[in-house]
Amino acid sequence: MTTISSQDVPLAAGIEALAEFLAAPPDGTPAEVMELLSLMTGGLGEPLPPRIYFEAVKQAPVAISITDAKANILYVNDAFESLTGYRADEVIGRNESILSSKSTPDSIYQHLWRTITGKRPWSGTLVNRSRDGSEYIAALTIAPVIDQTGEIAYFLGMHRDITREHEAEAQLRKQKTRIKVVLNAAPVLVVLLDESGRVILDNQEYKKLLGDLRGREPIEVLRQAIVEQAGFDPLESIRAGHGFKDVEVSIEISRTGGPRWFSCSGTLTSEADATPRNYFGRNILGERHLLLLANDITARRREVERAHLENLRARLAEQQMSHGMREALGAAIYQLQGPLNVIQAAVGMLKRGSAEPTTLASMLAQISATGQQALETLKGSIPVEVKEPGAMVNVNELLRQVLELETDRLLAAGIVVDWHPAHSLPQINGHKTQLRSMFKHLVDNAILALNETSNTHRELRLATRTLDGGVEVEIQDNGVGIDPSSRIKVFEPFFIGWRNRRGRSGMGLALSQEIVNQHGGSIQIDSDLREGTRVYLSLNAAAADE
Ligand code: FAD
Repeated sequence: MTTISSQDVPLAAGIEALAEFLAAPPDGTPAEVMELLSLMTGGLGEPLPPRIYFEAVKQAPVAISITDAKANILYVNDAFESLTGYRADEVIGRNESILSSKSTPDSIYQHLWRTITGKRPWSGTLVNRSRDGSEYIAALTIAPVIDQTGEIAYFLGMHRDITREHEAEAQLRKQKTRIKVVLNAAPVLVVLLDESGRVILDNQEYKKLLGDLRGREPIEVLRQAIVEQAGFDPLESIRAGHGFKDVEVSIEISRTGGPRWFSCSGTLTSEADATPRNYFGRNILGERHLLLLANDITARRREVERAHLENLRARLAEQQMSHGMREALGAAIYQLQGPLNVIQAAVGMLKRGSAEPTTLASMLAQISATGQQALETLKGSIPVEVKEPGAMVNVNELLRQVLELETDRLLAAGIVVDWHPAHSLPQINGHKTQLRSMFKHLVDNAILALNETSNTHRELRLATRTLDGGVEVEIQDNGVGIDPSSRIKVFEPFFIGWRNRRGRSGMGLALSQEIVNQHGGSIQIDSDLREGTRVYLSLNAAAADE
């Protein structure tokens, strides 16, 4: 009887071969081998021609050795001879330790011996040295063979050379390490997901972003940003086999650092099936993975934004100039119209008083005609207000531009800006210039309110968040505040509540309300705030582009 596990395939095959050998042993087979084999097989086996069994054991492709209880070799087969380089007569009577390369740690031998002297089979890997001194890695199984008294009578050893497999594995490990090194050195964020969206591989850039997002999973943040800013779910799209390339989205990382821009690409990858059914390479597709790459293009975007901001500054100055001209010309027309009306009335009266036109009447008529002409010239020279086309607008971006435009004024007034942009916001369909001017006006109001207070700590808080189907903006200052009775009146045209009224028209909030309404939203002053003013305004993402 043997304690060899039937699950051990090479061992089981060996025992079968030995059982067959035992059924008809060839002449000259050592008596110990006969005894061992009968112990191992329990005398099983049908009588068959002895030569067949003998050849079966001799030619078994695995190196087989039989030892006594102290590992002294009694028998070796052909495969043992060719693998170790020792002829049978050179090793019989010697200890199996002849094969030891001395580079296998002692702890392994101790475990081996603890197991087999405990009458249990042992399987493991050792480094062996063959007769010519070359080393090879041996996958060894040793099974104790117990006699009728319950004592260990022999050990059956079987081993094969797995140096090639080991080298292939080492090569694979090396390749894996190389891939990891390359992935981690790549300046691109790489993340591989399983079909359910679970991260199964990521690189250093991904981990860095994970840290920057303080534990929020970057893939979730990027996914939400793509959904909101590009209008599709990247994971669904990849799953459906529709890869995508260079989709640019922004995400807010921290309050002060500004947004980070990523150019994202996604693709579906399929591994070859590693299960036995694909052993003969029928190219059965295995697991599918979603690969997402995100390239940080913040520096490039910042450069573009800086140039854009310069352009914006110039345009804003131009707009202010043409606005000023419109107002000045409007006022001049208004002032001219009055006396001209009087002159025209006088001409009418003079004409009605006499049949013949008097010199005065004709002089006045001439003045009136010249005046009218001048009026028309003035009207014609009013700069035309250009109607702005609708566009997809990122509210965070507009607010940030406004903050940058106002930087000098904010610094001069000693105002601390507390900026809380939402990680990502849906784009809204709107008029960029109008919205930007409105936000600028609201920030200007906050600066005025802070300048009218004696507070030493001056704070402007801006926050954005997603609101069902739209965006909510909060602008709060700890300035003079608005009297509760005026919180609705401030939206009326020409209402001026500032202590210093100079240069104010009282139209800013009225216009802001109109702009917000055009964007399907609303604006209100928070009535619960004790100190300062908080303006809430909402904008609808899907507002029609008029
Ligand atoms: P050793 O002094 O022989 O042994 C090292 C440690 O093993 C000792 O410190 C001790 O803890 C333990 N040990 C050794 N002999 C015994 C014992 N009789 N009883 C209890 N504990 C003991 N080794 C290989 O390197 N390559 C092989 O291919 C190989 N095949 C083997 C096949 C069989 C069937 C058996 C039974 C053993 C085989 N061995 C093999 C183990 C071999 O016998 C030696 O134990 C091993 O090679 C270490 O040799 P060593 O001279 O370095 O140290």
